[in-house]
Amino acid sequence: MAVKGLGEYDDGNIFARILRGELPAKRVYEDHWALAFHDIAPQAPVHVLIIPKGRFISLADFAARGSEAEIAGFWRAVGKVAHDLQLEAPGYRILANMGEDAGQEVPHFHVHLFGGRPLGRMLSKPA
Ligand code: 5GP
Repeated sequence: MAVKGLGEYDDGNIFARILRGELPAKRVYEDHWALAFHDIAPQAPVHVLIIPKGRFISLADFAARGSEAEIAGFWRAVGKVAHDLQLEAPGYRILANMGEDAGQEVPHFHVHLFGGRPLGRMLSKPA
């Protein structure tokens, strides 16, 4: 089985379809570089996904192939979303799953933004 996060970009993935407006999403921010929307199964009071607009499978792919403008624009958008959601004072966490061990489900690079409560340990205990 192909490792999600590597290989060929799949234009039929869920986030590609959200980007094209084919699937609904509760959008919170959009600019030239990024789109942010609420996760469909939130794991914190605030759980937003931020995705670049380009066809990148994972952080590995984005870091390797993204232009400096795409990378800068994307990370500025992440910071802006957290700021606009007023998460800076209480604090927040960002997380990106890359590949199989991390459990990446959707093969379009995305950052999770969590906030709205104390977030506890950085990782769950090993199984
Ligand atoms: P991953 O495990 O790939 O890092 O995270 C994928 C995330 O996408 C999960 O948190 C999951 O709840 C979310 N998700 C999956 N399908 C949809 C969808 O159709 N809409 C939205 N808004 N989120 C989705």
